Amino acid sequence: MNDAHPQSVTGPSTASGIQARARRALAQLDAVLPDVDALYQDLHEHPELSGQEARTAAEVARRLEAEGYEVSRDVGGHGVVGLLRNGDGPTVLLRGDMDALPVEEKTGLPYSSRARTEDGAPVMHACGHDVHTACLVGTAAVLARSRDAWRGTLMVVGQPAEETLQGAKAMLDAGLYSRFGTPDAVLGQHTAPLPVGTFMHREGVTMMGSAHVRLRLFGRGSHGAQPELSVDPVVLGASVVMRLQTIVSRALSPLEAAVVTVGSFQAGTRANVIPDEAVLELTVRTEDEAVQARVLAAIERIAKGEAAASGAPKPPQVEVLNRGPVNRNDPELIRRVRDAHAEWFGREALVPGVLVTASEDFPFFAQGPERPVPIAYWFMGITPRKAWEEAPGATPQEKVAHLPGPHSSHYAPDREGSLRSGCESLTVAALACLHGGDASVNH
Ligand SMILES: [Zn+2]
Ligand SMILES: [Zn+2]
Repeated sequence: MNDAHPQSVTGPSTASGIQARARRALAQLDAVLPDVDALYQDLHEHPELSGQEARTAAEVARRLEAEGYEVSRDVGGHGVVGLLRNGDGPTVLLRGDMDALPVEEKTGLPYSSRARTEDGAPVMHACGHDVHTACLVGTAAVLARSRDAWRGTLMVVGQPAEETLQGAKAMLDAGLYSRFGTPDAVLGQHTAPLPVGTFMHREGVTMMGSAHVRLRLFGRGSHGAQPELSVDPVVLGASVVMRLQTIVSRALSPLEAAVVTVGSFQAGTRANVIPDEAVLELTVRTEDEAVQARVLAAIERIAKGEAAASGAPKPPQVEVLNRGPVNRNDPELIRRVRDAHAEWFGREALVPGVLVTASEDFPFFAQGPERPVPIAYWFMGITPRKAWEEAPGATPQEKVAHLPGPHSSHYAPDREGSLRSGCESLTVAALACLHGGDASVNH
């Protein structure tokens, strides 16, 4: 157990040693890459939805075992944990998420997914989790084959069900830290529509926290020709949707970042019937837990107030269905990772960090049983250079708006470049946290 003797990964910077150790470890990469590529194409062609990652998990577990990892399967659903102990030093958790999305692939790639669920829904790796998983396995192999370049313990985690924000918590609830030890650092990376070979790091909040809210608005149905007999939940719902727009613009300071989106509005079945109720589903994103609490309170107030103004027969039902915490990078750890990346890839490969409004369940890994665990999460570019150059716009933001991003049916990472740079970035980050090995000094 590491709890008794937490190892510091934030001592004096070892950045100057990174080049030599990374060169030594990554000398293994060319031998590992063909299998990383084969795994990537296989996963891309056979994506599995959140909670159904049995085949993906088996592929990951088999490969980790072949590299000498002590492997545990079915940790919190289809979670895989691979441990490699290599002398005294910190425990570093490397995390890759494994699940896909209900999206129909339109990339036209030869290894496109034709997968369907039992009820016929299309499935695609539209968020790049196949890149994350392939690079996780590649990094695990590189580090297993270069044990003289580092000391410490690697905890390689294939995580299920990220898209539903359930997998990380399920693995922790299943005893990830109590069974395998609390890590001293947790590292994770995500693909982004930036040029391949570039990386984006941000200190502090890197992704917003999220909440999924359902509002059930009660009215009183009637014939569509006799609205005077009804309390129309469609009109009530429309008022709620419009009034919700005032939360960000009027209830928050311009310096407080937040998003309130009504993504679903369900009511009624036909033109001449006023229904009994309307159901709205919202996503809320905030940079801060306190702001999230204020936004959720405002949503409830507005729903209740509009229902009262409509003469609704009873108050609305307001449910928070799930919450994802704010992704807050440990400043020292992310600086360490960023410095190591700058040294390995060159300063020009680093993109200034911006706050991402999307959410992740990665920050659950920061919740150690006895103390917070430092986490670092960064973005890796996967857009082919040519596509980037040809995309209209002068600024990165304008270009990104014209390129397929995560969750798009056209999301197609530059395969070779992404797999190579993704393995390198995770390996270099891991080495920056692990202690130097016996052979690292003289190289
Ligand atoms: Zn996603
Ligand atoms: Zn994702």
